[in-house]
Parts: sequence; structure tokens; C-alpha cells
Amino acid sequence: MKKIKVLAPATIANLVCGFDILGMALKAPFDEMTLSLTDEPGIVIKHTDEYNLPEEPEKNVSGAALLALMEEFKKPVGFHLTIHKHIKPGSGLGSSAASSAGAVVAANHLLGNIFSNEDLVRFAMNGEKIAGGVKHADNVSPCIYGGVTLIRSIFPLDIIPLNVPDLFITIVHPQIEVRTSDSRQILRKEVQLKNAIKQWGNIGGLIMGFMKNDFDLIGRSMEDVIIEPVRSILIPGFDEVKLKCKEAGSIGGGISGSGPSIFMLSKDEETANKIEGIMKDIYEKIEVDYKTYVTAINTEGVKIVEAQ
Ligand code: ADP
Repeated sequence: MKKIKVLAPATIANLVCGFDILGMALKAPFDEMTLSLTDEPGIVIKHTDEYNLPEEPEKNVSGAALLALMEEFKKPVGFHLTIHKHIKPGSGLGSSAASSAGAVVAANHLLGNIFSNEDLVRFAMNGEKIAGGVKHADNVSPCIYGGVTLIRSIFPLDIIPLNVPDLFITIVHPQIEVRTSDSRQILRKEVQLKNAIKQWGNIGGLIMGFMKNDFDLIGRSMEDVIIEPVRSILIPGFDEVKLKCKEAGSIGGGISGSGPSIFMLSKDEETANKIEGIMKDIYEKIEVDYKTYVTAINTEGVKIVEAQ
């Protein structure tokens, strides 16, 4: 096999109370990536999208992830990568993770599947380091494994795939820029014990809700007393979206990753579509451009669509 095309999905990190430890893969949007093996050692990257991302391998998250993989592969190897992004960088929908994860999954297939999914997460985290300044796995892990994952530990990596409930997800992406590095910097470094107690109760409840398909428990547990009160200030319309969507039947939701996208979960597609209408009305009213998605959980992760 010399050439492979993959679709790398968007992901929602944190899932409200699980900052840096929980993430979920989505059916849409996704990036398209084609990777070829070349005789010339090294990496060549080309973007065919509109986002003006750096194409130097050390500055592009896909290049950083591939470099980590090549270091462990040890034999000289060359890659040519074409990326067409549909997930806007800085959306909070795991744009950088899709590029990092898609590149290493594709490379692993071309090299004969010698690396485990856990290895691939480890390589892809090098891409996340350039995008957000720190290595984190809450987006790259569901992107590679599919479904919903818990990162119990990063060093050493301990990834736990969770049960995937049949949920619908509505997302609004206000077209404002929130850089991951900025939204990390504004966070307080200390947590009050009473807040920590609330948060770990909620994380336990959320995981149990996923495992038991208990939508009410998922909804009750989607409360974040540590990160959301600080980060939501950067997102116009946040409080109104959350309140009105819950009133209309959404089980819960919050900031996707570091924002500015907001996601809300629903038990059925009809409610998810109704939620989309509510989100649109709010952003029309406050005159902020936006994009919406109604989607579901992607259980496959990065998908191979063509191999030659
Ligand atoms: P998201 O929140 O959607 O994951 P991030 O802010 O984490 O987006 O990542 C986007 C950052 O990563 C931008 O600074 C962008 O320039 C950089 N970057 C470099 N290469 C890529 C790539 N291939 N895809 C996406 N972002 C990239």
C-alpha cells in the first residue's frame, strides 16, 4: 500500500466537568487527508483549504505528530500529506487533534499497522503541544479510538473507552476567535476544596451515566464549577444558549473544548433540531455570525476511505 485517504472527525473535549480527561468523537464535521509513502525521506505537507496554516512539518500539527512516529519507526521513511480541513482551527472542535490523529492513523496503515492505538495517541499529542502549548489527549484519544474516552492518566498513558449512548449533539460555533493557549492562560491555578468535591462527584456521575445509558444522570452531572465560570465569559450568548436549550428539552451541555463552540446533547433528533433553531435565533438576535451542526457520536474514529 502506497497511498491512503482518511476522514478525521471533530471531537468535543472536556464534556463539561471533565477538563482534560474526557472527550467524544463526532460524525461531523471532519477533515479529509491523503497520505502517500515517498522514496525521498522526510515530510511534505500541502493544505488545499482556506485556513492558511503553516506547511512546514515542525509547525504543522500533522507534521509534529508524524515526526514523533518516524522517530520510533527508526527506519528512514518519506511522507507526502495533503490536508483539506473542514474543521475550522480554533473552533473548540478539535481541529488540531483531527490533523494530528488523522496523520498518524494513516501513516500506521501505510507502515503495516505496527503501532497500537495508544502509541498513536502518544504521537498525536506532539501535535497538540504545538497547537495549545501542552500535551493533552482528550481530543486525540476519541479521534483515534472513536466514541467516548476517559484519560485516567497522561504520563503514563491510560485511556479508558466508555460505553457510547445513543445521543444527538447540536453545536453552535460563534465565528469569533478564542485561542486555546489564551483560554488556558485565564484559568486559575488553584481550586477550592468545596468546588473540587462538586466536580469529582459530577465526573463520577457523568461516567456512570454513560455506562448505564442514564440520560438524566448525564444531564445532572454536566455541571462545571471550575472551568466554565471563567471561560464562558469569552463566549457571547453562552448563558442564554444553555438556559434556553435546556428549557427546550436538551439534557445538558456546555463549552466544547476551549470554546467558542457550545454543544448541547439531546435524546432524539427532533429535539436536537429544535435546539439548533434556538441557537440560531440567539445569534441572529445578538448579531454574531455563527455556524451550527446537528450530529451524533462517531464510534469509529479516523476512518479509512481509500487505500491504493
Ligand atoms: P481547536 O480548538 O479546534 O483544536 P486549536 O486552537 O487547538 O483548535 O488549534 C489550532 C492551532 O493549531 C492554530 O494555532 C493553528 O495555526 C495550529 N495548527 C497547525 N497545524 C494545524 C493543522 N494541521 N490543523 C489545525 N490547526 C493547526
